[in-house]
Amino acid sequence: MAYLRNLDHGDIVHRCFRCGYCKFPADYSDFNCPSYKAFGWDTFAPGGRMWLIRAWLSGEIETSPRFTEIMYSCVACDNCKNQCVFEKFRDFLPDVFQETKAELVSDGLIPPSVRDYFKAIAISGNPYKLPQAQRGKWAEATGLQKYSGQEYLFYAGCVGSYDEVGQKMAKSVGDILVKAGVSIGILGDEETCDGNEVRIMGEMGLFAELAQANIEKFKTKGVKKIITLDPHALNTFKNDYPKLGASFKISHYTEIFADLIKKKKIKFKKYPAKITYHDPCYLGRHNQIYNPPREILRAIPGVEFIEMRRNGLNAFCCGGGGGNFFTDILGTGEDSAGRVRVREALETGASVIAVACPVCAKMLTDAVKMENLEDRLEVLGIGEIIARTQKK
Ligand code: SF4
Ligand code: SF4
Repeated sequence: MAYLRNLDHGDIVHRCFRCGYCKFPADYSDFNCPSYKAFGWDTFAPGGRMWLIRAWLSGEIETSPRFTEIMYSCVACDNCKNQCVFEKFRDFLPDVFQETKAELVSDGLIPPSVRDYFKAIAISGNPYKLPQAQRGKWAEATGLQKYSGQEYLFYAGCVGSYDEVGQKMAKSVGDILVKAGVSIGILGDEETCDGNEVRIMGEMGLFAELAQANIEKFKTKGVKKIITLDPHALNTFKNDYPKLGASFKISHYTEIFADLIKKKKIKFKKYPAKITYHDPCYLGRHNQIYNPPREILRAIPGVEFIEMRRNGLNAFCCGGGGGNFFTDILGTGEDSAGRVRVREALETGASVIAVACPVCAKMLTDAVKMENLEDRLEVLGIGEIIARTQKK
């Protein structure tokens, strides 16, 4: 079939026959697409989305506010990629969804919340529209120094720099790295958005500007290795920036912590707690980093580590990916991803949900409040858990 629009992966769209397998996790226990779970219409599920895109590409349907809302309700969690029955094309499902968003951006037909997000990043360098001078404030009471040739650049990202929940995570991680003797520095008020969400939501021009400016800045400062707080930043630094000439070594802080624990540079007091772990999509499915956070939690004496029913490759998203953290297209209803996920955490009997991503931290913290579970479940960054257990 000839299409009116030319997506890089448009030639696979017609192969989806809407069997619906991509909607379910391996054990068929629930729906695994956060967008479908929240809205319940087949057009919000991966297969229905593919058919809508096919009709749109061939001119059977026109771009409409409803169509753009459905496209931007995809949180880029990659769960469908692992469940689609067609091995030959399932790897490209997320590309089709991302390329469709990029087409909508080119046409100037995007939801208002997405447009506002891009505008904030373009004008302020962060989605909160806060001054650049405020970006490094979170680090003032820590021992963190400005980057000046240290072994690692510690990149906090927009959520770690400006959001209260994210700042707590950034502080605890920075403190632990400094105490463990890791040579790190931060960019503070010179840091700017990494662009992961800008790219996934399809603003390719703005993404290229952000990425090129960041690469240039890192190179000028002599950065060779980067530790990220946020798996979203890790994802774009690792998978997108090299296509634009970057060659930095990128690690997530949990990988560095796991290594420091093996070298006995992080020590713990006993911490008696039942803890479960929520895999961030951008650490797990997008970058196959599943073990380091688990190794850390299992190394803490007194911790009883319990997996959630859906974990690792099958973990259910918190709903914060694909820019939904900022655009809130999925909303906060009973079947919104974060609320589903905290109910799943509760089933384990754990009192703590350990998180490795500031976006997950905020989404799940809000969901715990909405579910009225504040007296039963606490959401803590892995750095915050370690901080509670460290020997003086
Ligand atoms: S994306 Fe794959 S699993 Fe989902 S409906 Fe289409 S063919 Fe079936
Ligand atoms: S990437 Fe996630 S949210 Fe998007 S269609 Fe696939 S399962 Fe649904």
